[in-house]
Amino acid sequence: MHSRAIVAGNWKMNGSRAAIDEFAPALADAAAGIRCPLAVCVPFVYVSRLAERFADTTVAVGGQDVAAEVEAGAFTGEVSGEMLIDAGATHTVVGHSERREKYGETDAIVVAKTRAAVTAGLVPIVCVGETLEQRENDQVEAVLGRQLGALLDGCSAEELDRIVLAYEPIWAIGTGRTATPEQAQEIHAYLRSQIADRDATLARSLSIVYGGSVKPDNAEAIFAGDDVDGALVGGASLKADSFADIARAMDAVGKTS
Ligand code: PEP
Repeated sequence: MHSRAIVAGNWKMNGSRAAIDEFAPALADAAAGIRCPLAVCVPFVYVSRLAERFADTTVAVGGQDVAAEVEAGAFTGEVSGEMLIDAGATHTVVGHSERREKYGETDAIVVAKTRAAVTAGLVPIVCVGETLEQRENDQVEAVLGRQLGALLDGCSAEELDRIVLAYEPIWAIGTGRTATPEQAQEIHAYLRSQIADRDATLARSLSIVYGGSVKPDNAEAIFAGDDVDGALVGGASLKADSFADIARAMDAVGKTS
């Protein structure tokens, strides 16, 4: 079985050419001593610059969204998977809660974007997660079951084999409030069991990463969970040293070789 480990950064709407030029050499240096696979997902306009800076390194580059359409055409403002690949990306975030909540992305759109990303040859990092209200109303499994079910129903086994699933409780994103290691492991195990009900082989090989205020000081405890395969990191991915420290925590728990 291939390693499920990955630590990915999500810069959101942050960054500049100057920030890329400061970040890239520092992370490239650090990455030389890190076994955990790394990806950094940046705004579309910076993908090619970051990919050039990481050209001779092990660090992968990603976008933060992708068009649901595969063929080029009249889709003003959209960026296709093929364009992302052309710019040097290998990954892309899909269905981040900010896109679901602020830009009306439905489960159906997330499925279409996931499939379009895979068709282009990208690894989609597909996000699922519940709100605080849903957690307080005991709806976590229902919400996640619906979001995951849409993916399992809408994608082929070959497509699912290409994705990374990110569990990102919305109440923990950018809030400084992290799920406890027990909460993260419990949900990751639930997601893996739901997948296993459909496809046991896929469940064993699929990477399920946690996202939500992961920092160098809480990463190792979160990564200790058996079903936690890494992280999707927002704020702490903007600085090379904190991002590298989170990746080192994956090496420290022995999930990379
Ligand atoms: C994210 O943007 O996906 C995220 C998890 O953000 P943060 O780490 O800042 O909570």
